[in-house]
Amino acid sequence: MKDLHIISGQTVALPKTAYQARHFINGVAQDSVDGRKSDRISPSHGVVVSQAALGSEVEAEAAITAARAAFDDGRWSRLSGKARATVLNKVADLIEVNVEKLALIETLESGKPISQARGECGGAADLWRYAASLARTSHGDSHNTLGADILAVVLKEPIGVVSIITPWNFPFWILSQKLPFALAAGCTCVVKPSEVTPSTTAMLAEMLVEAGLPAGVCNIVLGYGSPVGSLMTAHADVDMVTFTGSTAVGKLITKRAGDTLKKVALELGGKNPQVIFPNCDLEGAADAVTFGIYFNVGQCCNSSSRIIVHEDIADAFVTRVVELSRQVAFGNPLHPDTQVGAIVTPEHATKIDSYVRAAVAAGAKVCIGGHSLTIPGLGDQFYQPTVMRGVTPDMVIAREEVFGPVLVVLTFGTLEEAIQLTNDATYGLSAGIWCDDISTCLEFSRRAQAGTVWTNTWMDGFPEVAFGGVKQSGQGREIGAYGFDEFLEVKSLVMRVGSTRAPWVKKA
Ligand code: NDP
Repeated sequence: MKDLHIISGQTVALPKTAYQARHFINGVAQDSVDGRKSDRISPSHGVVVSQAALGSEVEAEAAITAARAAFDDGRWSRLSGKARATVLNKVADLIEVNVEKLALIETLESGKPISQARGECGGAADLWRYAASLARTSHGDSHNTLGADILAVVLKEPIGVVSIITPWNFPFWILSQKLPFALAAGCTCVVKPSEVTPSTTAMLAEMLVEAGLPAGVCNIVLGYGSPVGSLMTAHADVDMVTFTGSTAVGKLITKRAGDTLKKVALELGGKNPQVIFPNCDLEGAADAVTFGIYFNVGQCCNSSSRIIVHEDIADAFVTRVVELSRQVAFGNPLHPDTQVGAIVTPEHATKIDSYVRAAVAAGAKVCIGGHSLTIPGLGDQFYQPTVMRGVTPDMVIAREEVFGPVLVVLTFGTLEEAIQLTNDATYGLSAGIWCDDISTCLEFSRRAQAGTVWTNTWMDGFPEVAFGGVKQSGQGREIGAYGFDEFLEVKSLVMRVGSTRAPWVKKA
């Protein structure tokens, strides 16, 4: 630990009282009918930072009923795109006004650094604005070439009531990858955040009211996956489920939603590789690898938790990544210089460590880290930056999502081997290549089994560019025009406009 860059002080004070997060159903903020609540203890400061209403099927049922009624009476779905865009743009403005409040509670509940939380919460406003632009520009198709007497029009309509289930790693950002797009399409929603990070979702409710969103259009239920999330995925009045989280729960949701044939969009895990060729900006690649594995303490579906590095440069490259790992500022999330904060829960910290222990037992070597990290005054819910070599492609650590700051190194000799290793995974979320030769980059990009391929960069994203995975990383796309289309149904109108239709029944 001595040779790591640790930040123990803080410049932002802890709030004096815990934030009270409540459900938001049919336009009304409310506690649970049975009065139950759950406490959220900050991963880095060990104090209760929020108390959230703990919902049951009663609240989930009420929220679904409200969303169904709001959809069916057209109070939102039949508004003009302009009217919907006006509300979404106002929400974006209010997010910007409230960035500090949102970022502080996001930091305290998740353990992520305050500077990162500010970036995510403030940046989410841009997702709302982009979705607003889609509300105004969305249109269908017309077919004017079907013959003199026929005109066909293809309409896009909102899919209906959407259940939105989000995880704890990017609570406000992931919510904003889904909710404004569903609302822009004219859908009504029921939202359930993770019970460990409920507060920024609950805070959004006030902004929705202030922006003029009609009651019942967006409902928020706080509580556990079972019973709240389960009902949201099985209920006959829900038309679509969009979920971000673990592959295991994604599969469960798909099965439950199958009984009523709901549409399901899933954004799940990854074991995302960056492939490093000798002829590239090696310093830039080493920095991107360091960023890719430690950003959000590796608790990131897009974490680049595998590198596939050319055998000629592997030793020097790993040495550089290890050097950079020592320079990354781990520590107190409430200090603006901190780059990497705490692990979300003690259970998750234990899970990360057990992956590392199992890899060591299987023969992997730890180049740096490999243990939890205790920071004076902040406790031990931190994990050291960890790089592992001596890893073979069949080891669990090379195949499963650790969701922590643990990088594994594999090596290759030829482009063919690099592509084979990249695709030797059950996941297919993202992949990256570092190489100066554009033909090699294109060959790799076209053959990599991944929803996103980055070339000479990592994790650059834009509201305009679709995001999602193939294989067991998910189905459907988020953000961009493709993400917006997920919330739309297509209806074809075929109209005879000239002469009357030729009779089918032969007249006697
Ligand atoms: P989960 O997949 O369990 O949780 C994600 C969301 O789904 C939470 O809101 C959760 O509620 C909810 N949920 C849980 N069970 C159900 C259910 N039966 N029906 C409907 N909703 C449900 O992730 P975890 O938080 O448990 O994390 C476990 C692992 O998942 C991590 O270690 C990581 O590997 C992966 N993960 C991947 C993410 C990604 O971005 N792809 C994000 C988060 C985790 P609640 O937790 O409140 O009960």
